[in-house]
Amino acid sequence: MKLICIGRNYTDHIEELENEKPTDPVVFLKPDTSILLKKQPFFIPDFSNDIHHEVEVLIKIKKVGKYIDRKFAHKYYDEVSLGIDFTARDLQSSLKKKGLPWEKAKAFDGAAVIGKWISKEEFSDVDNIDFRLEKNKEIVQQGNTKLMLWKINELIEYVSKYFTLKIGDVIFTGTPAGVGSVKTDDILTGYISDKQLFSIKIK
Ligand code: ZN
Repeated sequence: MKLICIGRNYTDHIEELENEKPTDPVVFLKPDTSILLKKQPFFIPDFSNDIHHEVEVLIKIKKVGKYIDRKFAHKYYDEVSLGIDFTARDLQSSLKKKGLPWEKAKAFDGAAVIGKWISKEEFSDVDNIDFRLEKNKEIVQQGNTKLMLWKINELIEYVSKYFTLKIGDVIFTGTPAGVGSVKTDDILTGYISDKQLFSIKIK
């Protein structure tokens, strides 16, 4: 399976990193080896001094598809979760400067946190989901899927032009403002509404 990640999908986060507003979604992949195993802490890798948390709403693909029209995109997923796209920001900045791919900064082992899955039936509208990330019990990021530049169904349409979506693939839908560094002993906890979907210790 693959993790398909969207960058720059919330205007407030684009402004915070002083990125240009994209005309198309920014897309990158993470391999399955980047998934942080259940109940494991996140170990800060030795190649970075600035690991950032990016909390993101996730959707899990349940049906094979290619060139999916946004009108039918809702048939391709049943479950929603919350996760973290850990990013070695120092490494990413130097790669971006040189125009090089981001994988070393985004796709390393442990860089993808996937929370507990919940049925999309629990939401009256997937384009209006409140979520937040707490670091040591203080809110550091919060967002709502209605603030996405490209909504979930549009993202499915867009990414399926390039990649065949397979059962079990996960889409990371982008992060709102408030990204920041983590350090040893931090605890990151993610919530959709008031449901806690993950809790990660940094080591
Ligand atoms: Zn991200």
